[in-house]
Amino acid sequence: MAQSEENAVAAEESNAEPESETALETARRQLERAAGLVDVNPGIIERLKHPTKVQRVAVPLKRDDGTVTVYTGYRSQHDDVRGPYKGGLRYHPNVTEDECVGLSMWMTWKCAVMDLPFGGGKGGIVVDPKDLSLGEKERLTRRFAEEVRDFVGPEKDIPAPDMGTDAQTMAWFMDAYSMQEGETQPGVVTGKPPVLGGSYGRAAAPGRSVAIIAREVIDHYEMDIEETTVAVQGFGSVGANAARILDDYGATIVAVSDVNGGIYDPDGLDTHAVPTHEEQPEGVMKYDSPAEISNEDLLELDVDVLIPAAIGDVITAENAEDVRADIVIEGANGPTTFAAAEILESNDVAVVPDILANAGGVTVSYFEWLQNINRRSWSLKRVNDELETAMLRAWDDVSDAKAEFDVTWRDAAYVVALSRIAEAKESRGLWP
Ligand code: NAD
Repeated sequence: MAQSEENAVAAEESNAEPESETALETARRQLERAAGLVDVNPGIIERLKHPTKVQRVAVPLKRDDGTVTVYTGYRSQHDDVRGPYKGGLRYHPNVTEDECVGLSMWMTWKCAVMDLPFGGGKGGIVVDPKDLSLGEKERLTRRFAEEVRDFVGPEKDIPAPDMGTDAQTMAWFMDAYSMQEGETQPGVVTGKPPVLGGSYGRAAAPGRSVAIIAREVIDHYEMDIEETTVAVQGFGSVGANAARILDDYGATIVAVSDVNGGIYDPDGLDTHAVPTHEEQPEGVMKYDSPAEISNEDLLELDVDVLIPAAIGDVITAENAEDVRADIVIEGANGPTTFAAAEILESNDVAVVPDILANAGGVTVSYFEWLQNINRRSWSLKRVNDELETAMLRAWDDVSDAKAEFDVTWRDAAYVVALSRIAEAKESRGLWP
C-alpha cells in the first residue's frame, strides 16, 4: 500500500464524530486527513501527532493584598525539525494543556507554510488577566519567565504575544530572562515594543496578512473587490486591522463585532472610525450605527467574505449549515471545527485556513528576530513590503498545491507544510 493510502486509511478510521472538539482534536484530525494526500512516511506523521515536550509549571504570585495565588502555566513545544520553537503566550481562564498542544501544532504548520526556519510552540497561564492589577500581571509574567527559563531562548523557543498578552508583557518577559542570563537577550521573545528591538508593523501584521490573502482569494474567484461585502467577527488586533486594510482596498465592510455583539450597515461601516479593542476595549457597540447584530447572526450574514477573527471554535457542526458567505478567511486560530469544515466543504464554501491567512504575525516575528540578531531596525515600509512578498509567495505555493491535488485550501496548505517538514525529517533522520 502506498504511504498516502495507508495514511488515508488512518484518516478514515479517525473520522468518528466526537461530541465536541478541542483544539488538539481538531488539529490531529486535520493532520490525519492531510496525511492521506501526501506521500509521507507514516512514521513521520505518527511523530507529528505528538508534541516533543510539554512543560507544566506552578506560578506563585504575591497579590497586591499580600496573599498568594498559585497559577498553572504551560509551554508546549511541538516540533523543531526546521528551527527553534515559535509561538504565542496566552493569558486566559480557558487555557489548557490540550489547547496549548493543539495551537503549537498549528504553529508548526504555519511556520512551514511560510517557509520560516521555525517550529511550533505555544504556551499560556490559566488566568483571567482582567482579575490582575498591572503590578500583579508584571510579577506573574516575570515568575513565569523564570519557571520556563531553561526551556526558552533565542535559539530554543521564542514566545510572542497572544490573547491577554501584549508588547508590555513581552518586555517584562525579556527583562526577567535577560536579568537571569546576565546579558540583554532581545531575541528571546518577539512582539516587543520597538524601543526594545520590537519590529515596526508587528501588531498589525496578522490582520494585514488576512487582508492580503482575502484580496488574493477575491481575485482568484474573479470577484471585484469594490463589489465585495465582508463581515468581521472580533475587532481586535487581527480583526480591526484586517477590516481597515480591506476597507482601504475598496471592499465594503458591512458588519464588525466584539465580545458584546456587533454593528451592521449594509452600505458599509467606516471601519477607521469604529474603535478597536486597543483604542477602546468593548467599544464597538458604543459606535453609532444603523443596526446591531449578535455575534451568532454575524456569522450567518449573507456576505461574500466572512472573517472570524475573535476566538476559536465559533463555526461548529451546529451553525455551519447556516453560513451563507461564499468565502471564509480564518483570522482567529482554529475558528472552524473539523466537523464544520466538512459541512462548509459540501456546501462549496471556500475556507482559507488560519495557518496561511493570519501567518503575517509569525512572519513579522521572524523579521523581528532577524533584526535582533543583526542589531538592526527595519523601517515600517520595509517590513510591510517584505510581508507582502512573503504572503504572496506562500499564497502561490498553496494555490499551486490546490490546483495540483484538487483539494480544499486547508488541505493544500497542509500539503505544502507537511511536504517541507517531512523532507526536513527525512534529511535529518531519526536519532539514535
Ligand atoms: P484581541 O484581544 O486584540 O481582540 C479580540 C477581539 O475579539 C476583541 O474585539 C474582543 O472583544 C473580541 N472577542 C473576544 N471574545 C469574543 C467572543 N466570544 N465573541 C466575539 N468576539 C469576541 O485578540 P487578537 O490578537 O486580535 O486575536 C484574535 C484571534 O487571532 C485569536 O484567535 C488569536 O489567537 C489569533 N491570532 C492573533 C495573532 C496576534 O499576533 N495578535 C496572530 C495570529 C492569530
